[in-house]
Amino acid sequence: MQRREQAIVKLLPPTQNKRNWLDNTAQVFTQAVQYGLDIAEKESVRSRNRLHKVMYRKARSLSLPSDYARMSVNTTVSMVRAYYALLRAGKQPSFPQVRNSQGIGLGINAYKVVVDNERFVLRVYTGERGTYVWLPLCVPAKYCDKLQYVYGDARIFKRKDDWYVTLPLRVPYIPTVSDSEPTFIGVDLGIVRHATVVTPDRVMFFNGKPARHKREHFTDIRSRYQKHSRNDRVKDSKGKESDWITNVNHKISRSIVSLASEYPNPVIVLERLDGIRSRVRGSKRFKRMVSSWTFRQLTDFIQYKAERENVRVVFCDPRGTSKTCPKCGHATRSNRPQQGRFRCVSCNYEANADYVAARNIAAAGARLLPQEPPDTARTQVQTEPIGVRPDGVKDVVAV
Ligand SMILES: [Zn+2]
Repeated sequence: MQRREQAIVKLLPPTQNKRNWLDNTAQVFTQAVQYGLDIAEKESVRSRNRLHKVMYRKARSLSLPSDYARMSVNTTVSMVRAYYALLRAGKQPSFPQVRNSQGIGLGINAYKVVVDNERFVLRVYTGERGTYVWLPLCVPAKYCDKLQYVYGDARIFKRKDDWYVTLPLRVPYIPTVSDSEPTFIGVDLGIVRHATVVTPDRVMFFNGKPARHKREHFTDIRSRYQKHSRNDRVKDSKGKESDWITNVNHKISRSIVSLASEYPNPVIVLERLDGIRSRVRGSKRFKRMVSSWTFRQLTDFIQYKAERENVRVVFCDPRGTSKTCPKCGHATRSNRPQQGRFRCVSCNYEANADYVAARNIAAAGARLLPQEPPDTARTQVQTEPIGVRPDGVKDVVAV
């Protein structure tokens, strides 16, 4: 899991030679983009392929290295697309023109951020084999740890007399390692109740009734359309239904994750939905659940929202969660005399069945976690160490 960010970093004032190279390259790059824009406007070209065909050769003839020529096409294409998007949105934009501040597009292979004498340096390819321009960076403290995750196309640009670089980052998600005891939050997914959440001191029910009514309503409408062979309407209604469910799932997952993040070192525990059909025999509840993509979706939503909030998620074995007594541990089908009710035949403990299941799920998570090898409990990040120069790279400034 990665988060995309962008860092805008100032270049330390470059030497006169490097300034000349930057100014010159920016000028040629701008020329190439303007050439592409002119053609796009005159001939109403919007396809990348056609723009590439006419622009690439021109850019190369302006002695723009191939990586930069490719980036000039990319820049043009995205400007043209933005223009047509505005048109479609009913606005009346004027056709894009190159601004002086356009700068230089740096393809992913045209640069690298390296550490040289404990300083961050932007190493830019000149187009001549093995020769680079080394541009020391003035990196704010907040980016120091992140520059190892630079990945993607970048851009160098000038503001007044200073040069800057926009660097795309893909920062891996690292769960916070907390010393405090984990808090297990059990989540039971179901039909009658969409979700039941149990924390050490709270219970939260998400009622599934409105959802069921809505689905019945949709099914009803569809069967009427079907009778009249209105397949377009059937399809339409299916789309509306799934939009509606997606929205409900977003709301539920958001509430669960925000509830969880109120606790110290929270761990959300869910039941595994995979491979359940074969292992859990005769459990209608799960067969229904597994067949339904809505549970899969809700699980996915909880997972990605939790990751965003640094909340861990673990999946437990679903066997026994609905029939085990949380008080004495006695497990039998007879503990469920009727749908929705739990009553232990051994110790007479009685409670709502969904609540019992969620409690058992939380307990299963607690049993699961200490047994996990450390490398799955906490994501370990392995990246190439920065500061190591690749072999064979000539350590020279070209200009
Ligand atoms: Zn019991």
